[in-house]
Amino acid sequence: MSHTTYQGLKETVFQSLPLGSVKPSGWLKNQLEIQANGFTGHLDEHWEDVGQNNGWLGGNGDSWERGPYYLDGLLPLAYLLEDERLIEKMKPWIEWTFASQKEDGSFGPSYLKNANNIMDDYDWWQDFIMLKVLTQYEEATKDERVIPFMLKYFLYLKTALLDHPLKEWHEARGADLLLSIHWLYERTGDSELLELAQIVQDQTIEWNKIFNKFPYWRKQTEWNHRTHVVNVAMGIKTPAVFYRQTGDESDKEAVYKGIQSLMTYHGQAQGMFSGDEWLSGTHPSQGVELCAVVEYMFSLENLTRILGDGMFGDILEKVTFNALPATISPEWDSHQYDQQVNQVICNLAKRPWSNGPDANMFGLEPNFGCCTANMHQGWPKFTSSLWMATQDGGLAAVSYAPCSVQATVADGRDIELVVNSNYPFRKEVDIEVNLQEKSTFPLLFRVPGWCSGMEIRVNGDVQQVKTEKGYSRLEREWNPGDRIEIMLPMQVQLEDRNNNAVSVNRGPLVYVLPIGEQWVCVQERKRFHDWEIYPTSSWRYALINDVEFEVEENEEIHHQPFTTNHAPIRLLTKGRLLSNWMMKKNSAAAPPKDPKPYENAPIETIELVPYGCARLRIGEFPVLR
Ligand SMILES: [Zn+2]
Repeated sequence: MSHTTYQGLKETVFQSLPLGSVKPSGWLKNQLEIQANGFTGHLDEHWEDVGQNNGWLGGNGDSWERGPYYLDGLLPLAYLLEDERLIEKMKPWIEWTFASQKEDGSFGPSYLKNANNIMDDYDWWQDFIMLKVLTQYEEATKDERVIPFMLKYFLYLKTALLDHPLKEWHEARGADLLLSIHWLYERTGDSELLELAQIVQDQTIEWNKIFNKFPYWRKQTEWNHRTHVVNVAMGIKTPAVFYRQTGDESDKEAVYKGIQSLMTYHGQAQGMFSGDEWLSGTHPSQGVELCAVVEYMFSLENLTRILGDGMFGDILEKVTFNALPATISPEWDSHQYDQQVNQVICNLAKRPWSNGPDANMFGLEPNFGCCTANMHQGWPKFTSSLWMATQDGGLAAVSYAPCSVQATVADGRDIELVVNSNYPFRKEVDIEVNLQEKSTFPLLFRVPGWCSGMEIRVNGDVQQVKTEKGYSRLEREWNPGDRIEIMLPMQVQLEDRNNNAVSVNRGPLVYVLPIGEQWVCVQERKRFHDWEIYPTSSWRYALINDVEFEVEENEEIHHQPFTTNHAPIRLLTKGRLLSNWMMKKNSAAAPPKDPKPYENAPIETIELVPYGCARLRIGEFPVLR
């Protein structure tokens, strides 16, 4: 059966809860606070590109994407933490943006429209980001200026796009504009918005066709918006966004085929596909850009919302819990442009990448400053997406990280769920159902693809549940004080990689051999410095075939769990040093197909930690069979 809202826009399987409905707790809240105390809460004080002179504050500095990017993370972070300092920091940007709207409906730094001194060179991209910011702002504050502001802009855009169509970055990223158009349509029902949506779809790169018959099988080196890793990470949601407009099943299928192709030809062990600018193949020493990480997360959150398939939650967790923390320093005061699964040294050196020699260093803006501006959205939007609303007035658990959820359910009552967990570091999740009086509504729980034997108990009784599209459904009358316990058994699972290598997974976490790290400051600034990291221990280990993994849990979850010293959980196994695995072009060579140990090398006990804990690591291992 197909559901439609009004006419012509397919209903999404889940709906996002308004910003602020899901609040972080436990280790996740700590993570957001670390972010607030690091880059996100202080970047404007130390980086001119988003400082007082930014065009989006009326200055004549950067007026393109950097200001809006920064806001796209700063704003949700401020409201999730209810942090007055961050809210005050964010407000002038919003106020300036409102004030900038012209009679014709356009807004933003005005000279930007002819940034290259060519009157015809309209760039819409930065507007798309600011619209995403405004939708979140409206959800958090109910500010009544947002909806008329957006309506006025979209009416302007409907005409303006005929003379100045989408091209280059905005042609690749049209779906991000469609998200805001759909958001507004769902609130106003204004049919002109659907006409605009059609124009935008027609002018956007046909990602549906690209992913249905994926042509980019090899490492790419040429300038091409269709293989630019960030565009691809954003583009993967496009067919599903189109699907809301077309209802065409092949658009939906394109998402599944696209992810499969990306992982086949460019997949990496931490759940990402590579791209040290362009899609870069499966070699574990190719780079993955931080912007691609946070944009893929945002795509997966939208795919979950639109298509309601648990598979997207599996990938979202893998990327969020592994690729995201690994590429940012534990204090959130430096980050990489490109991360590697097998990352044995981070230094200024030429690598077989399209990016520059500083791309894997940790710093303020290694290689290029896009990630410096864009990285902030990762954790806050993930937090907001932990739970979503179902079409029939229930709630769906997309991920089990600790949080609390406020929502209105089927019978119109307001309820609260308090999710206590140390997931993904532990397998137990405990949920308190807080309500004033009895209430009947469904709860959906994601059943991770890696999990067998998941158990749901209510007040101690095991529940029989049906699972569909990766979610178990529990519909019943809930009583004040009901308690749900979920058990997600995690087994070590080895994933086959190229060259007979393996990666080690347990639950949503990828486990790696941490390499001793010596951080060397190469550029000191007042606050955010640049660093190289040199290895202080050997990394050329193979795993021994068929050796058991012993799980060792730390008693407490440290304030920052994503460090090697404070890893909340470790896997103990056996390894042996190899004599034929070497460095090549300043990275670890591909794991040898035929690994040879040193003659007298003992079989050693080695400790693996979660991928996100180690800034130097081996994540793809040869195996001695
Ligand atoms: Zn970037």
